Amino acid sequence: MTAPPSMNALPSSSYLDQDEAVAARFQRIYERPVRLKVDNLRKDFQNNGATRTVFDKLSFNIHRREFVTVIGPSGCGKSTFLRIVAGLDEASGGEIQLDGHPVGGPGPDRGMVFQGYTLFPWLTVKRNVMFGLEMSGKAKSTAESEAGLWLEMVGLRKFENAYPHELSGGMKQRVAIARALANEPRVLIMDEPFGALDAQTRAQMQNYLLQIWRKVDVTILFITHDLDEACYLSDRILVLGANPGRVVEFIENPVPRPRSPAQFSSPSFVALKNRIEELIHPPVEIEEQQLPLVRLTEAGDDVE
Ligand code: ADP
Ligand code: MG
Repeated sequence: MTAPPSMNALPSSSYLDQDEAVAARFQRIYERPVRLKVDNLRKDFQNNGATRTVFDKLSFNIHRREFVTVIGPSGCGKSTFLRIVAGLDEASGGEIQLDGHPVGGPGPDRGMVFQGYTLFPWLTVKRNVMFGLEMSGKAKSTAESEAGLWLEMVGLRKFENAYPHELSGGMKQRVAIARALANEPRVLIMDEPFGALDAQTRAQMQNYLLQIWRKVDVTILFITHDLDEACYLSDRILVLGANPGRVVEFIENPVPRPRSPAQFSSPSFVALKNRIEELIHPPVEIEEQQLPLVRLTEAGDDVE
């Protein structure tokens, strides 16, 4: 049976459709230098003498000032991958290069923000941001003035003398972002940074992050479980599968920039979100014949 003509004429939006501005933006992104080169990366963990491969054959490039989100089922190795990028864990095979140099241990060229609040509770907001600057050898007065500028950037200058316990969850994460950016990392690594915040604060934080990123030359690698968050923030979305973790698709986000909350219901946004849903929750086909037939009541007799 063929569909009636009116059905064929329905406008369809595909996540692969890009308007000219979006396509031109990707062209420009790919012309920028490769910041992170991930080459055939593998990670194994030993468990009671058995080797378990968490992910294998991860290979892709991420460019300067790109915003990449990573999505995938729990346990597929997202955090492990970010920890290897950060130099907190070692790969079992393959390599990551940052600006052409293999990543070894942690370094000031990579900043991290986690879901849990990681500020030093005994230091003021300003001292928290100054900490890394002083560690890197900057004079106290320089560290102080630079910390002030970063706090200005995240809108918390007024709170520079407050202690972390006096701040809301969203404010603490803004301080964590200021602290991570103060060392001027080339890559900002964010592992579900807004996961513990309520929906409204989370939406505000997404907008803050986009504003900050527009002003700073930094590549962002961001893990989230929230599809709206991934579609709203990123240039590309890395979708990982599990057992073992692998790249399912690296999707170019067709939603134009600058982003605004009004885009959440736009055709390109919805098409993108549907595509990710499809990739991470493929339709389950139940073969009726194989289900055990258990008859608990007679009610079934007259309902079919
Ligand atoms: P995700 O962030 O995608 O949820 P993780 O990277 O945290 O996944 O973990 C991936 C898998 O690796 C999980 O099965 C986890 O149990 C295992 N894993 C993580 N860290 C270790 C470790 N240090 N030792 C053994 N297994 C680990
Ligand atoms: Mg994780």
